[in-house]
Amino acid sequence: MITSLLEGNKKFVAEVFERERPYFDELAKVQKPTVLWIGCSDSRVPVNTITQTRPGEVFVHRNVGNIVATNDWNLSAVLEFSINHLNIPDIVVCGHYGCGGIQALDNEDAEDRYIPIWLINAQKARSRVDQKLAGLHIDVSPEKRHQLIVEENVRLQLDHLREYPFVARAMAGGALRISGWVYDIASGEIRIVS
Ligand SMILES: [Zn+2]
Repeated sequence: MITSLLEGNKKFVAEVFERERPYFDELAKVQKPTVLWIGCSDSRVPVNTITQTRPGEVFVHRNVGNIVATNDWNLSAVLEFSINHLNIPDIVVCGHYGCGGIQALDNEDAEDRYIPIWLINAQKARSRVDQKLAGLHIDVSPEKRHQLIVEENVRLQLDHLREYPFVARAMAGGALRISGWVYDIASGEIRIVS
């Protein structure tokens, strides 16, 4: 498999890089992305493909379940760099239906050590949805419930984002907007949830 990745790179250099040489020459000097994408690591949600964006346009952070955890130094450094150094004006948190991370909120594997700890940061999305459904006495299909939790998880992670003082400050000053989206892997469409 990794051989085909290197073959793909040869093709990229020969067919794309050479054709768009001036664009890549400019990119080699500086990056000016206008969006920070916080998405899931899922292989079916490749940001540049599903948004038809090019190298240099989107700064990217991906993890299991598109989670924003304020004790995550990896994401914290990405945020600091994006906002304070790249002056990125938009952050998108994008979840997706069929998310294994969200499914794992219901089905913990006893063998896993790290996934359950990581998913603590998303548990509230599940409980919010279950409480709402119980309160409304609504019975929904497991698939619909999953979709609702995926959407709620995006809203929850936006809440976490606002907990960073420098994020809140940038938003208050009008320098930063945050948006919540969900990608439907069955249709290829992105839905705006917040
Ligand atoms: Zn996922």
